[in-house]
Amino acid sequence: MTATGHRSDAPIRLGTPLTTGATRVMLLGSGELGKEVVIALQRLGVEVIAVDRYPDAPGHQVAHRAHTVDMTDPAALTAVIEAERPHLVVPEIEAIATDALAAIEAAGTATVVPTARATRLTMDREGIRRLAAEELGLPTSPYAFADSLAEVRAAIEGSPVESAAVEGGVGIGYPCVLKPVMSSSGKGQSVLRSAADLDRAWEYAMAGGRVARTRVIVEGFVEFDYEITLLTVRARNADGTTGTHFCAPIGHLQRDGDYVESWQPQPMSDAALAEARRIAGAVTADLGGWGVFGVELFVAGDRVLFSEVSPRPHDTGLVTLATQRLSEFELHARAILGLPVDVTLTGPGASAVVYGGVEATGIAYDGVADALAVPGTDLRLFGKPESFVRRRMGVAVASGDDVAQARERATTAAARVRPVTL
Ligand code: AMP
Repeated sequence: MTATGHRSDAPIRLGTPLTTGATRVMLLGSGELGKEVVIALQRLGVEVIAVDRYPDAPGHQVAHRAHTVDMTDPAALTAVIEAERPHLVVPEIEAIATDALAAIEAAGTATVVPTARATRLTMDREGIRRLAAEELGLPTSPYAFADSLAEVRAAIEGSPVESAAVEGGVGIGYPCVLKPVMSSSGKGQSVLRSAADLDRAWEYAMAGGRVARTRVIVEGFVEFDYEITLLTVRARNADGTTGTHFCAPIGHLQRDGDYVESWQPQPMSDAALAEARRIAGAVTADLGGWGVFGVELFVAGDRVLFSEVSPRPHDTGLVTLATQRLSEFELHARAILGLPVDVTLTGPGASAVVYGGVEATGIAYDGVADALAVPGTDLRLFGKPESFVRRRMGVAVASGDDVAQARERATTAAARVRPVTL
C-alpha cells in the first residue's frame, strides 16, 4: 500500500477537498516550514488539517482546519488523529509523542510520513547517532552520551566511567560540543575549550533541553571547511518502486546553533559530493518511506561526516523557494502523495533570516517595500502571533548571477525589514 492507501503499483488518485473523496493530510507542527507544505498541498487540491501547540500558528492560517493540541500528550495526539481521520500524518517538529504515532501506523489508521520509526529515531540525538554510526557505520564526530557532569568529564578527559566510555576508551578531549539529546536549534548547546567551561556548559544544557531530562551528547569539535544540508527526496517511481533524488548541496551559516543564512549550490569537490550522497542515501534508505529529508553534513576537504537528519523539509532549505523548479515544500508534498519529483536547480540563490528583534505580540513590519526593491528578492513573513528577539519571523530569499550576489541581496533585503511594536 502507498501513502494514500493505494497499492504501490496503482495510479495515484487525488480527491476534492471537503468532500467524502478528499485526500486528507494532517500536519503535526505548523510553523513556517509546515505553512509552505500546507500551501503546496492546497495547490494540489488536498484537504489539509494543521495542528500546533499554540493558536494561529503560521500553518493554521492557511489550512482547511486548525487544531491546538499538546502533541507530546499521546492521548490528545491520538484523539485529534482519530477525529480527523487523515490519510497521511506529517510531523513537522520533533517534540511529538512518537509512541502514539507508532500505534497509529501499526493500527493502519493513517500513514506516518516518512515512517513512525523515522520520527522516533530522529526525535532525539541518541537514536539517530547510534543508527548512523553504530548500525550503518557512517563517519561521524567522536561522541559519547552522559547523564551527569561527572560522566561528561569522564567522556572528555578519558577517565573510566563506564556508561560514558568513548569507543576504544580514549577521551574526546577539548574542544568539544555539549548538547542535550532532546533539543534543536542550538538550544542548550555550547562549545567547551577547556575544563574551565565544564560547569557552565552543563548548566546551560540542563536549562536548554526540550524536556526535563539530563541526558546529553558530547561530540568532538569538527574543524570543518563548510557544512551542508543535502536535501534528499525519496519518491515513488512510475513502476511503484522508490527512487532517491538529491538536490544541489545547500551551504549555510549557523550562529549560536541556529541558521542565519543559506545558499545553493555550495561548491564541492566531486569526491566530497559523492561521499555526501553515499551517506545521505544510506541513512534515508534505512529510515524509509517517502518525502524530503534534510541530511546535515560537515565537510573538510574530501572528508564528509554525518551530523544529523530531519525526516522532513529543513529550515536551511527555505533557499529552494528561490533556486529550484520545485521548492523543498513542493517536493515534500509530491513525494508524500506518491507523485513524481523534479530536483532541478534553476539558478544560484540564497536566504537570510529575519529575526523578531522585539518581544511583543502582534508586531508589524516596516521596510518591506525597501527590502523588495532589492533585485531578484522575495520575502516570506510567517505571521507568527508572538515575536521574541531571536525568533525567526521571516526570511528573505534571492536569486543572483552567482551565490555571492544572491547572498548579498538576501542579507540586504533581510536587514531592511524592521519589526516594530504597535
Ligand atoms: P546541531 O543542532 O547539532 O545541528 O548543531 C548546530 C550547529 O552547531 C551545526 O550546524 C554546526 O554549525 C555546529 N556544530 C554542531 N556540532 C558540532 C561539532 N561536533 N563540531 C563543530 N561544530 C558543530
